[in-house]
Amino acid sequence: MEEVVRLTPPINKGQIERLSAGDKILVDGFIYTARDMAHKRLVDSLPDLPFPLEGQIIYYTGPTPPRPGYPIGSCGPTTSLRVDIYTLPLLAAGLVGTIGKGSRGLAVIEAIKKYGSIYLVAIGGAGAFLSKKVLASELVAYPDLGCEAIFRLKVKDFPCYVGIDSRGNDILQVSSFEGIERERTLVIIKPDGVSSRLVGEIIKRFEAEGFDIVEVKMVHLDQESAGHFYQVHQDKPFYQGFVAFMSSGPCVVMVLEGEGAIKRVREIIGHTDPKKAAWGTIRRDFATDIRYNIVHGSDSPATAKAERDFFFGPDQRV
Ligand code: ATP
Ligand code: MG
Repeated sequence: MEEVVRLTPPINKGQIERLSAGDKILVDGFIYTARDMAHKRLVDSLPDLPFPLEGQIIYYTGPTPPRPGYPIGSCGPTTSLRVDIYTLPLLAAGLVGTIGKGSRGLAVIEAIKKYGSIYLVAIGGAGAFLSKKVLASELVAYPDLGCEAIFRLKVKDFPCYVGIDSRGNDILQVSSFEGIERERTLVIIKPDGVSSRLVGEIIKRFEAEGFDIVEVKMVHLDQESAGHFYQVHQDKPFYQGFVAFMSSGPCVVMVLEGEGAIKRVREIIGHTDPKKAAWGTIRRDFATDIRYNIVHGSDSPATAKAERDFFFGPDQRV
C-alpha cells in the first residue's frame, strides 16, 4: 500500500523536513481557508492577524454554502499563483503550509526553501469529495467577503500531495519527470515584448523552468524576412498586419534547450489569444491582443528545426 504521512497542525519544522515532493499526505485537525481578497487583508493587517499563523496551514478555497445538515458545501482548491504575492510575507510571519492547485512562482519556491515550509496540492475539481473530509466549519474573519471569508475547518483524512518540499523540489516542474527528451526550440520575443521592456522577465521565466539558452541575438526583421518566417499564414486575413507588426521593431530571438522544450515552452507562453490564455502564462500576464501577443514559440519538432536554421543555421536568413 502507498505510504501516507499524517499532518496535524500546528506543524513543526522537523516534520516538514522529513517530507519530500510527491509524498501523499492526510491532514487532520484544523486548517484555515483564504482566497486572494482575504490574503490581501491579512497582509495589510500584519503583524496583527485574526488567528495565529505559527505552524498553521492555509487552504486556498472559497467553499460554497452548505446544504442543510452539512458543515460545508463544495470546497475544491483554487489556483495558487493568484495568491503568490501575498504568500511571501505570510511565510515570513510563521505560516508553515499552504494547500492549493497548480504551480507556484519562483519567488514562492525560494521563500519555501528559506523558511522551511511546504506547499501541498489538493485534487482540483473534486470539491464535493473534499467537502466530505470537513467535519466542521467556523467563521474566523472578514464575514463581508462571503464565501471568501476566512473559515477554520476541522478536517479528517483531508488528502493532498507534497507539491513543493522544503528543499525546493517541485513535482509541478516538467524537469522532475523521467523519460522526456531534451529538445531545442525557437523563441522570439516580438517587437511589443522588447519595447515593453519584458525581455528580462520573459527570459527569467524560461530559465526558472529549467531551460538553457543555447543561442540568442537581437534582430530587426524587414517585411520580407518576417513574411517568409510566417509564410504558413500567408492566406490568413491577419497576415499583412501581422508581418508589418513583426517588422516594426527589434526582436530578441533565442534557441532554448530543455526537457520537452517545444510543448512546454508553448505552455509557458500560453494561448495565441491572451484572453484565452491560462493564468500565469506570459501572454495572460502581459499581452492584451491576439496580434500583439509578446512571444513566439515553435510548434513542432519540424518547425523548431526550420526556425532555428532560419535564424542560426549555416544559411541563416537574418
Ligand atoms: P506564434 O506562431 O507567434 O508562436 P501561435 O502559434 O500561438 O503564435 P499562430 O496561429 O501561429 O499562433 O499565429 C501566429 C501569430 O499571428 C500569432 O501569435 C499572432 O501574433 C498572430 N495572429 C494569429 N491570429 C490572429 C488574428 N486572428 N488576428 C491578428 N493576429 C493574429
Ligand atoms: Mg504559430
